Amino acid sequence: MELRKDPVTRSWVVIREGPSKAWPAEHCPLCPGNEHLTPSPTLLTLPENSPAWQVRVFPHFDPLFRIEGETARVADGIYDRMNGVGAHEVIVELRDHDRHLSQASDEEISRVLEAYARRLLDLKKDDRFKYVSVFKNAGAGQEVPHSHSQVAATPFVPRRILHELRSARDYFELKERCLFCDMVRQELKEKTRLVEATDNYLALCPFASRVAYEVWVLPRRHAHCFERDPQASRYRAELAGLLRRSWQRLEQLVPDYHLALHTSPNTLTALERIGYWKSVEDDFHWHFELMPLPQHKPRPYLTKEVYFATVAPEAAAASLRSLPVDS
Ligand SMILES: [Zn+2]
Ligand SMILES: [Zn+2]
Ligand SMILES: [Zn+2]
Repeated sequence: MELRKDPVTRSWVVIREGPSKAWPAEHCPLCPGNEHLTPSPTLLTLPENSPAWQVRVFPHFDPLFRIEGETARVADGIYDRMNGVGAHEVIVELRDHDRHLSQASDEEISRVLEAYARRLLDLKKDDRFKYVSVFKNAGAGQEVPHSHSQVAATPFVPRRILHELRSARDYFELKERCLFCDMVRQELKEKTRLVEATDNYLALCPFASRVAYEVWVLPRRHAHCFERDPQASRYRAELAGLLRRSWQRLEQLVPDYHLALHTSPNTLTALERIGYWKSVEDDFHWHFELMPLPQHKPRPYLTKEVYFATVAPEAAAASLRSLPVDS
């Protein structure tokens, strides 16, 4: 397996031949009692020192990236390649096989958020990893029905994050303000795209939503790094509640979605080398993105290259606001 950089788009691509390994199917490997069916070691369990874990983290069954080795970036004429060094982990979110995170308590969701932060902090100690992604496939995209998230540490910054980092930096250079903080201010004033605002967080449908019912959740106060944000641990239950209600709203309209946490890249690595900058603490602002999966059949070429939302974000936010949620 190797990573290759497309010199035209500057995106890294994973090249891995052969079939991917299936998750164990006979008994759910994510259920308590089946820990022996998962790759070792167990990387984290929460609550700590409790015989009955709620959250459990272990290496992925079929990792896209492997922890051993050097990244060993080499040039091949105009091309660049490197080894598929990284980490790929599974976070089991709940003990119960059939429960969704949207049905969990705020305390349980807080524990999942704590696991995100703990794995991010741990993996970012490794300066081979330039970025750590935390994401979740909910609904149709889910590999097994048991509720879980995934973590992937990569020796490159994924394309979407790189775009965001670059535009956040450019905006900051121009205005000396955080793009996301300005967005928060305008959305709070206009209110048309707000789904819900709590004391410290916002859920909104972004102005240029890529798909119908896209929702972002972000802190109202500036913070570039989720796992190091002191407010994030202090107000974790508040964030958990807002995420839970956002999932409950979304699931009534679009049951299949991706969740992605966008946080600062690993600032331990030589940032200049990969084209960023010292202002990342001031210009980036962590957030969650909830991206519903389009329900329709294979899309024609044009709508693959151009995002195409079938519901305007203002109408989407109005519908989401009107849906019932548990308090
Ligand atoms: Zn299970
Ligand atoms: Zn900000
Ligand atoms: Zn983002």
